Amino acid sequence: MAEPRVPGSRESSVSLPCGERIDVRDLDMGMREFACSCGDDHAIVVDVHPPGRFVPEALVSLLRETIDTESGEQFGTIHLMGMVAEEFPEEVVSKDVSENGSVGYALVWVAEFDARRLHEVVVELIVELMDHAISHADNDEAISSFEQQMLEFDVSEFVTQYRRERDFQGPADGPV
Ligand SMILES: [Zn+2]
Repeated sequence: MAEPRVPGSRESSVSLPCGERIDVRDLDMGMREFACSCGDDHAIVVDVHPPGRFVPEALVSLLRETIDTESGEQFGTIHLMGMVAEEFPEEVVSKDVSENGSVGYALVWVAEFDARRLHEVVVELIVELMDHAISHADNDEAISSFEQQMLEFDVSEFVTQYRRERDFQGPADGPV
């Protein structure tokens, strides 16, 4: 991650990759992106957003069954955003606000790019993760079936459809 988690930090302002600063107390858990004074929209994710924000729950369950996390906890939004921050260290900042009790979440990530681009990045990383997991599977049939499906999988089209079909303000996307 671009910024190490500092336990005990009560500082609530964050420097964004674009050079602007924001106060996390101005962010809302329901926000998916915000219009920055630099002129761009930046994607926002907080740790209480369920991974279902990005992919169907069935796939989330599959990921949870397949992926062993280092900490042993359930695979979730924190791991997804960790992958995004690792892939785009210059474009993603994270902030530990766990000491800042008023905001309702413990970790927030802000990306240089907008929420739609972030969604595509997350889906691409999940596809890579699954591809990697499947390639270690001792099952040639599963590997070739997965690879076949991936050949036909269009990330951009999936994201467009998912964002259209899901009500992002609905209870399924609310904090858990
Ligand atoms: Zn900006």
